[in-house]
Amino acid sequence: MAAKSSGEDCCVKVAVHVRPLIGLEKLQGCKDCVSVLSGMPQVQIGSHSFTFDHVYGSTGSPSTEMYEECVAPMVDGLFQGYNATVLAYGQTGSGKTYTMGTSLKDGCQTGLIPKVMNALFHKIESQKGDTEFQLHVSFIEIHKEEVRDLLDPSSSSKQETANGNAVKITTTGKPPIQIRETSNGVITLAGSTECSVKTLKEMADCLEQGSLSRATGSTNMNNQSSRSHAIFTITMEQMRRLRPGDSNASNLSDCMTEEYLCAKLHLVDLAGSERAKRTGSGGQRFKEGVHINRGLLALGNVISALGDDKKRKEGLHVPYRDSKLTRLLQDSLGGNSRTIMLACISPADINAEETLNTLKYANRAR
Ligand code: ADP
Ligand code: MG
Repeated sequence: MAAKSSGEDCCVKVAVHVRPLIGLEKLQGCKDCVSVLSGMPQVQIGSHSFTFDHVYGSTGSPSTEMYEECVAPMVDGLFQGYNATVLAYGQTGSGKTYTMGTSLKDGCQTGLIPKVMNALFHKIESQKGDTEFQLHVSFIEIHKEEVRDLLDPSSSSKQETANGNAVKITTTGKPPIQIRETSNGVITLAGSTECSVKTLKEMADCLEQGSLSRATGSTNMNNQSSRSHAIFTITMEQMRRLRPGDSNASNLSDCMTEEYLCAKLHLVDLAGSERAKRTGSGGQRFKEGVHINRGLLALGNVISALGDDKKRKEGLHVPYRDSKLTRLLQDSLGGNSRTIMLACISPADINAEETLNTLKYANRAR
């Protein structure tokens, strides 16, 4: 694969996170088959070696480093009006939910989203004097190319039998959530809940509520596995009063002027990247697999088109419309927005094939 010059002129960065071997894998006698070269953003599996913008091994405190290096600049960017997207990619069980912090079980303290929320409110507090902030949160899920509102439990309910086979979905007759584009290219979600939040606690409550209603289904690989994309979006509006003499103020510097900025940060816990055949289930499950692949496939194509400098300069068509996922993220991928893909991998030898697939997908995004 042709190497790109440097990450600087590319709007998509890629980081790899290798989680530690977990209890069950140790019990099964799994061996660690992934090595991270110290001091180098390089990861090795078998005879394959890949270089990314960042690689986080399972030692130290990867989530703190990952936050500082990959996500903190995006939080700063929000204050300057730049949209951004954080994508957690990887097979089921690779640590996406743990890394993002959308799991009530173990992610809520350590994950990236709680770190984002903390930093955001800290920064807002320090800038409150001249700027008025308004924050909104939405939390949706894309499942089988349908958008579901995780902050409105009445929007649809799911019932699953103990063996996970029969899934009954009842909707309340609410119109489906629609992805729309305004004349100036802003993507909106018509019909989804936008919670206005004033405090860290209120935002954390939204995360918790949405995480609770997130649909999960059982597969042979992991009964907590999720076959949907979960998207937690923070939208921040700023109204800044510029004082006369402020370098950003207009020429009419003796009257007060105002600057308005609006930007959003999408934090995405993608569906498991494993192919349908590995989940070993037919019928309903297979159909879901096909749809999930559609979102991940479209995402790969979009990111790959964005990262291709030559094609970008030639005004290449970026295939955003190929899936709901890419359509929704359209105004926050490419252009002036910043994107980071966090490829999550398991170090266990039984997962070697999927790990290699993940690294290849991530490599294509560079
Ligand atoms: P995914 O969302 O990709 O399916 P999870 O986030 O649910 O994966 O992680 C699978 C399992 O691995 C969970 O039991 C989780 O607690 C554990 N795990 C994931 N990442 C880590 C980590 N960095 N450190 C310790 N355990 C982890
Ligand atoms: Mg998960």
